[in-house]
Amino acid sequence: NGFIIAIDGPAAAGKSTIAKRIAQKLGYTYIDTGAMYRALTHKAIQLGINMGSDKDLADLLEHTEIVLVPERNGQAVWIDGVDCSDEIRSQEVTSHVSEVAAHTTVRQLMVEKQRELAEGTGVVMDGRDIGTAVLPKAELKIFMTASVDERAERRFLENEKRGIHVPLGQLKEEIEKRDRADSERKSSPLKMAEDAILVDTTSMSIEEVADKVIELAEK
Ligand code: C5P
Repeated sequence: NGFIIAIDGPAAAGKSTIAKRIAQKLGYTYIDTGAMYRALTHKAIQLGINMGSDKDLADLLEHTEIVLVPERNGQAVWIDGVDCSDEIRSQEVTSHVSEVAAHTTVRQLMVEKQRELAEGTGVVMDGRDIGTAVLPKAELKIFMTASVDERAERRFLENEKRGIHVPLGQLKEEIEKRDRADSERKSSPLKMAEDAILVDTTSMSIEEVADKVIELAEK
């Protein structure tokens, strides 16, 4: 079995950017668990599935093939054989994903898949419940955060780069709303594991954060 690095934290804290870098540097597999919840949410929206129903969503998930495809600068997300990497980042998916991810059966099925993906290799997995629920035995647990203003600002710049224009204030509200929903749900809420290391990235560069995590991994 390989070394496991779990990275949890609130929305837009830079988890996936850092996780990708570290996986690349260490030659580990990167697993973006948020992308899996986003993929299910995207398909549910497309098919008009009731997002208040755990059972309907769990049925849908059992009939959905979600594949995380490693790519040079991260990973692509395929749903039932179609590349949906961009679609799962839409505002619509983002605004519904926390509702979908709050359901108990949906989470059980996702966690099973995530554990299977992590078997037998070095892994960097990012999400909300990796250190607390998915891989509680991870060798290194990071809880990555930043002030909400900083996170909104980073998301804003990232959007602009991709030609997506959403006002900063709206992004901040969305991030706060999603953090609240993810922290308050009953089923494995967003929470720092007792043995996690807190990394506040508010005034750190991507390089600095990546170096810090690698340093911790090599300890
Ligand atoms: O990481 P990302 O922002 O893409 O995650 C999208 C959403 O998926 C989160 O806001 C949360 O509702 C859900 N999620 C989760 N557990 C995870 C990863 C993501 O509930 N391990």
